[in-house]
Amino acid sequence: MIETVASADMLIEEVIRVKKNHLEPDMTTGREKRLSIVSGIHGDEVAGQYICYEIIRRIKSEFTKLKGIVDVYPFLNPMGLESRYRDIPVIDIDMNTVFPGSADGTVGEYIAAKVVEDIDGSDICLDVHSSSVYLKEIPQVRVNSDIADDIIEYASRLNTDVVWVHPSSTVMPGSIAYALNDIGVKTMVVESGVALTIDYEYCSQIVEGIFSLMEYMGIWDGCANNTHMPKIAADADVAFVNAESSGIFIPSVKHSGLIKRGGEIGKIVNVLTGSIEEVIKSPRTGVVFSLRSYPIIEEGSLVARVFGGPDE
Ligand SMILES: [Zn+2]
Repeated sequence: MIETVASADMLIEEVIRVKKNHLEPDMTTGREKRLSIVSGIHGDEVAGQYICYEIIRRIKSEFTKLKGIVDVYPFLNPMGLESRYRDIPVIDIDMNTVFPGSADGTVGEYIAAKVVEDIDGSDICLDVHSSSVYLKEIPQVRVNSDIADDIIEYASRLNTDVVWVHPSSTVMPGSIAYALNDIGVKTMVVESGVALTIDYEYCSQIVEGIFSLMEYMGIWDGCANNTHMPKIAADADVAFVNAESSGIFIPSVKHSGLIKRGGEIGKIVNVLTGSIEEVIKSPRTGVVFSLRSYPIIEEGSLVARVFGGPDE
């Protein structure tokens, strides 16, 4: 059942409408578990659109297996998605900074408040992202350390390669994940791929994981087909590699590949002088789980993240 969760007039004769597809079994008892899936907060991240489509399509095609409630909110920032724009157009605000929003606030805050109100009462919420145009990410779940104990059993069902537990001090208070966890909805951020593209392999991996989570929650009468067991990463397990020069980045490793400590991640070259400015080496042995995708790079920008024990 398609429902409009929030609508708001914009200055330019456009109306923002945030919709959801509410899926529930024909017969309900009122005790069903409820999973909410949101995506499209960042208008340049399109992988979540395909993931939402696949979830709804598969539920509808095997509807008798549905034993609980699934609410899918594919596009929280519909104007951003239409215009390939990361933030909310016109008002130019990153939507993932305005939660929990406010009923009498700006357009972004109003929509945020209506979305939070609608998701309230869910057992679990997944906030599906696909990085930025700058970095490609291996399928991963991100959770805050202060709720990790309650949530890791669910996060580890999602068929990703990594579950990254962040210290709560680094989590943005304005994000939807923070706002929902604050009202007791266990919320995880799912990241994969790179903005503006759909990596179908990664999306399929995550879709399988979502059905596995639904099965674990008692929402789906299926047989989990997980092919990935995530490694749990604390911040100390993740090395950040930043550029020390500017130019174009030419990778020497494949994204998601293994690298040895001291192995070459790539080079930064100067296109005017034809010289190599920097050879970037890995500070540890591990998996290159984030890798620079957009080749133009400035000094200080993130080139890669390597996941592996610091002593390896
Ligand atoms: Zn995002």
